[in-house]
This record gives sequence, structure tokens and C-alpha cells, in this order.
Amino acid sequence: MQTGKILGISGPTVSVDLKGLKLYERVFVGHGLLTGEVVRLERSHAVIQVYEETRGLGVGEPVKGLGMPLTVRLGPGLMGSMYDGLQRPLERMRKEMGPFIRVWKEMYGLDYIKRWNFKPAVRMGDELQYGMIVGEIQEGAFKHYIMCGAEKGMVAWIASGDISLDEPFGEFTGGLEIPGCHEWPVRMPRPYRKKFAPVTPLVTGQRIIDFLFPLARGGAAIIPGGFGTGKTIFEQSVAKFADVDIVVYVGCGERGNEMADLIAEFDELEDPWTKRRLRDRTILVVNTSNMPVAAREASIYTAVTMAEYYRDMGYNVLFLADSLSRWAEALREISTSLEEMPGEEGYPTYLASRLSSFIERAGVVETMSGRIGSLSMILSVSPPGGDFTEPVTQACLRTTGAFFMLDTSLAHRRHFPAINWFQSYSLYAKDLSEHYCREVAPEWEDLRRRCNQLLQQEESIREVAEIVGVEGLQDADRLVMRVAERIRNEFLGQNAYSDDAFSPPDKTLALIKSIIAYHDRAAEKLKQGIALDEAMKSDEVGRVGG
Ligand code: ADP
Ligand code: MG
Repeated sequence: MQTGKILGISGPTVSVDLKGLKLYERVFVGHGLLTGEVVRLERSHAVIQVYEETRGLGVGEPVKGLGMPLTVRLGPGLMGSMYDGLQRPLERMRKEMGPFIRVWKEMYGLDYIKRWNFKPAVRMGDELQYGMIVGEIQEGAFKHYIMCGAEKGMVAWIASGDISLDEPFGEFTGGLEIPGCHEWPVRMPRPYRKKFAPVTPLVTGQRIIDFLFPLARGGAAIIPGGFGTGKTIFEQSVAKFADVDIVVYVGCGERGNEMADLIAEFDELEDPWTKRRLRDRTILVVNTSNMPVAAREASIYTAVTMAEYYRDMGYNVLFLADSLSRWAEALREISTSLEEMPGEEGYPTYLASRLSSFIERAGVVETMSGRIGSLSMILSVSPPGGDFTEPVTQACLRTTGAFFMLDTSLAHRRHFPAINWFQSYSLYAKDLSEHYCREVAPEWEDLRRRCNQLLQQEESIREVAEIVGVEGLQDADRLVMRVAERIRNEFLGQNAYSDDAFSPPDKTLALIKSIIAYHDRAAEKLKQGIALDEAMKSDEVGRVGG
């Protein structure tokens, strides 16, 4: 390990006199062994981005290069854990150090003492290479497949039964160990064999999404919205109800108490699809507003690498981040302290390319072991002043397939989720409608078209009503207004604090079907000359849910 000294400190970055460092190499900085990463190399010095509070650090303190990049440890024990942006186990740290974590000491993200029951899938003489499955461990409700890391070769022997991560799981001929876990550089996407177009739905349980702007497994969506428009509630609702195997949730730069509430809830609630405890399918990565800013930059990479790891086992994984804007702000802060040339609104010029290469880690893939896994993303964005032309929203729009636009005026009217049904879109809608028609109901697409039509009609009738007054409208138009109102209130609106928080596809379908059938019956009566009030009374009973 090479050592050197701190030459200067500027916000979250320090310059050091260490020679022979590599770009993105991990470095320990100062007496407190703060973690950092090399972000710039010059002839006379290197610049380190430090992931922890640099206050109290002094010039002349020692620096050590670790000879490897920032990595995450991947192995059994991740599921149900809560980590900071550098994969330090927050709950274990709290137990050992109390509520005031002052000196961040190096702590492993995985438990090396815990014992597991290992079932090997390979035998002596088998050839192993990267990504192949070595065996499995029961991790709570999951089969955790142990995959071969960078090492490859012929299996000399393989363990079986009771084992801890501290022990070798086997050995290659030549003596190289087969470990039960491995490290992976967070900034390097994990490889796969092939990527497919995302064509199966990821059911979120939110009607406006599943019905109007559906998300595909392997797809990516952003949900931008100003303060208080419901980003966090939306992300948390999806984390609870989404039809996926595993959720990786990143609380990025937002309030800590929201994360605490989420954890408490997840300990109690069940996954509605499998009836297992939600916590057991969730990995939390937390870098709240009170934690060091720079680690926020790393946190989304740490989290997405864990998500890819489970994808590589053949699972459907959902990555949620709240909020990506706070990540971008951390990037900006680091860039500023590096005195880089600023781009739009002070963000570095590489903001868009960083974002798109990050979002491209989503997808449906054939894994290195020949399984099919998916990684989907829903990212919240908090544009300052609710201005969607700002750089983070715009950069995300270029690479995501769905846009769920939160509308301040809907939120003011307490219409939640406050997703605007005219401005939002999903590029997955066409393929997924076919899927819903096939798997849920043949009339799905037809109802979707009718629903959109009624909402649009309402809009144009409203313009007319502003001129002639509601009384001046024709009966058929007044009926449309009444029906559209029902669509908005009973169907698109969904209270996250009620039993209606989760709407499976059959409920979603039954609800819209009953509203549209109500319209058609009343419209038929109008045609027969029955008065509007009488026609509208037809049967408001037959309601479903609501
Ligand atoms: P943001 O994260 O965008 O600042 P929040 O998600 O914290 O906003 O939501 C702000 C408030 O809006 C919540 O405290 C809640 O009262 C209300 N809200 C948002 N979504 C819903 C919902 N689906 N059902 C009921 N209330 C909601
Ligand atoms: Mg929020």
C-alpha cells in the first residue's frame, strides 16, 4: 500500500502527493481513514473526492492508495439490510457506536460470522467462469445463487452444508479459492450476454401508471415534481406494492425521518403478491440530507450494483431512487470544488452522459449463466421551482421510457397521485397494452382509449362551459363531465393511506369498466329522451372499490 500526504483541502476534495495512483482508485484519507476516490491525476498531485465529512482534516495527514477502485461486496446477507452510500451497515454501526457516528470506521457490508447452508451446484472437475452459478444459499425467502466472480478454472473441490463467508466455498485446481462473495467496482456495469426489449409489465399497483402510463420490467421512468407533490409517497407506495422479486430503495439526500418511517413500515407490512414481510425483499441504501454530501454521489452506484447482482441471479429487481436531483447536486458540488468548467446551471458538462450511462444499467437481460433477469428503475426528480426544462429532468428524459409528471395544481387540489394525465407518457404503453389484453382482459386497450377520450372531452367541454356556463351545455356533454370527474376521483386518484393504496390489475380493470359502462348506459337513456338527472341516477350503485 502506497502512502503520501494531504497537500490541500477544498470542500469534499483533497489534493495529495501520492504517486502511481490510478483514476477511480480507492484511497484512505487522513488519520480517520476516510474513504475517497481518485478523480483527477496531475503531474505533481492527485485529487481525491472524499466521501465523508472533510471538516477536521488537516494538511500533512497521511493518505493511502488501496490499489483498487471503490467496490461493493456482493453475497448473502444483503437482503433486508440498510446501508449508507458506501455499503456500511447502518444498523450494525448504530448498535456498536450509538446514535452519534463520528469516526467512520471501516465496516464490512456483509456479515462474515453468520452461518449459512450451502448447496453446491457444481462438482469436482467442472469448469467455472465469470457469472456461472456455483451453488445456492437460502437467504430468507430467496434462493441466493452464489456466482463465480472474476476467478475462473476447474473445480478442485466444493463445500457443502454449514458455512460462513469467512471460509472458502471451494477451490480451483492450482489452489485459487472459490469465495462465497465477491467485490465489484460500483462504477462498472455488471456484464450480461444479451439485452432484450422490455415487453412485460411491471405492475405498480398505482392505477394511473398501470392503466395509462404502464412501466415495463427492465424499463426506466422518471417522476419529476416540485416540493410536496408526492414524489416520496409515490416511490414508497411502489416499493410496497410493485410486482417484483426485489426492491432496492435509495433515499438520496432527502429527509431522514421519512426513511425511518419507511423502515418501520416495511418491518410490519407484507408484500401483497407473496405475503412475505416487505423488509425481506428490500435493500435500503440511505444517504439522507444530514449525511455527507459526497457519499451521495456514490450511493446510487453502490445501490444499482447490488440490484444488478440480484438481476444476474435471474430475478426481477426494481431500483427506486428519491431523489436523483440530490445526487446531481452532489455531483455539482464535487465538480465545483475541482474547479471544473461549469455547464448549464452550474452542473458539470458531463451530467447528461453520466445520467444516461447510469440509466442504461436498466434492462431485461440474459445473464452470464443463461437466466433472464430484469432491472427496472423509477427515479424521482425534484426540479427547482417545478421547472421541467432544468438540466436533470431534461437529461433523464432522453434515456427513460416513461415520464410521470407531477402537477403542483393537482397536489394543491389534493388529487393524489398528482400525476398529470395529459403531460405524462409511456413509450412502453403499446407493447404492454398487448400484454394486458392477452393476460388480463381483451377489452383493456379499448377501455384505455375510452378513458383517455373522456378525459380529453372533459377538457374541451370545460372550455366551452367557461363561455356558455354549465347550464348552457348539452346533456350528453354534462354527462361526460360527470363521468370524467368520476374517472379522476374514483379511478385516477388513489389515497396512499387507505385500503385503496394498492390496486391489482383486476381491480383496476373492474373499476374503469364500471365507470365507462355507467357512461354508456346513461348516454343510451339520454338518447331515449330520458332527462339527464334521471339518466345519471341510472345506477351509481354497482361501484367497485373506490
Ligand atoms: P414530495 O416528496 O414530492 O415532497 P411527498 O411525497 O412527501 O412529497 O408528499 C407530500 C404530501 O402529499 C404527503 O405528506 C401527503 O399528505 C400527500 N400525498 C402525496 N401522495 C399521496 C397519496 N397518494 N395519497 C394521499 N396523500 C398523498
Ligand atoms: Mg420527498
